[in-house]
Amino acid sequence: MIENYITDYSYPEGIAFHYLVNNKDYLVPMVTEEPSVIAASSHGASIIAKAGGFVASTSERLMIGQIILENVEDSKKLILEIKELTKNLLSVADRAHPSLKRRGGGARWLKTRILAKDLVAIDIAIDVQEAMGANMINTMLEAVAKKLEEVLNQQVLMSILSNYATECLARTTCKIPFELLSRNGIAGEIIAKKIAQAGRVAQLDTYRAATHNKGIMNGIDAVVMASGNDWRAIESGAHAYAARNGQYRGLSTWKLSGGYLIGELELPLPVGFVGGSIGIVPLVSINQKLMKITSARELESIIVSVGLAQNLAALLALVSEGIQKGHMRLQLKSLVIAAGADATEEDAIVDRMLQEGKRDADSAKKILRDYRK
Ligand code: NDP
Repeated sequence: MIENYITDYSYPEGIAFHYLVNNKDYLVPMVTEEPSVIAASSHGASIIAKAGGFVASTSERLMIGQIILENVEDSKKLILEIKELTKNLLSVADRAHPSLKRRGGGARWLKTRILAKDLVAIDIAIDVQEAMGANMINTMLEAVAKKLEEVLNQQVLMSILSNYATECLARTTCKIPFELLSRNGIAGEIIAKKIAQAGRVAQLDTYRAATHNKGIMNGIDAVVMASGNDWRAIESGAHAYAARNGQYRGLSTWKLSGGYLIGELELPLPVGFVGGSIGIVPLVSINQKLMKITSARELESIIVSVGLAQNLAALLALVSEGIQKGHMRLQLKSLVIAAGADATEEDAIVDRMLQEGKRDADSAKKILRDYRK
């Protein structure tokens, strides 16, 4: 799969439970090295399942490919010429990867944008069906670029897909009655109000929004990895989408309405059910079977819902006991393993660290040494 290979570097995989998405129960495989992500995911999902589950939907699965034209002398004239050629250019794209059209996909539309006096972008939307589509699109774009050079004698700077996949969106919502949110003697309504307030802060403040979105991506990336997809592509699209209105904001929103906390998350999710490394890595096929999914759209619905559950669990912890308390045991476990404890020693060392109120690596090593005496 890669160049200059020396070895495999393995990541842990776990399962998140309690996912009820569009009235179907799912087991969700997650690949992550971060402690507490899967526990938080299952916790958020269990609250939402008790509230009736997620309602998820997906847009068309169109990916945008870009051809950037440079040294343009008369951009308005060029745009008119491209417009005249649109049908022809779309069919050139389709002929470059004919099997996609046979499957019901292919080039759908073409738009032009003036980026600067001398630079014009051609955006071509391609229905990628069940694949993520990067390689297929790049092949199609290069054919169109060649045609433009021949017919219009126009210089092409580059042709490549855009990861800002605004035409391949997934959306999920949940509606949680206040009473499901009460904890530690605090009324659910108070917690709900604090979560809505936390959501508001992520809309107002970029410093908070970045961390808010990191929490969402903790869950999303883990399922993207487990499903054999390209998490860098999903990350770049998600963060670009978070800044779509000119300011980087939280990807999710939380609002109160008539005794309910309403959560919503929307982001580009151009994941594939086939293609890329999906058919190559055996565990990916097992994970698809574990999820019992049959399409890229179904996978999108699960992944966007994982993002919202992850966000709920994080906000719930933040506005109640704080993020560290619930996760401390899991974080300490990593510290203790790093200090050299084996599986038979881990729990005892974590207990001693908690008793002594120690949270640092030196203390973990010292406690382990004392334990072994
Ligand atoms: P592939 O190159 O593997 O193409 C998809 C494959 O899936 C094709 O071979 C196609 O077969 C096959 N296929 C089978 N059934 C279907 C179906 N129902 N719908 C669609 N295709 C089907 O992968 P992608 O083009 O999806 O590219 C994804 C890869 O590209 C990822 O590994 C990604 O990391 C990488 N990449 C990402 C970039 C980015 O994000 N900027 C840039 C470049 C690469 P057939 O040939 O018969 O049509």
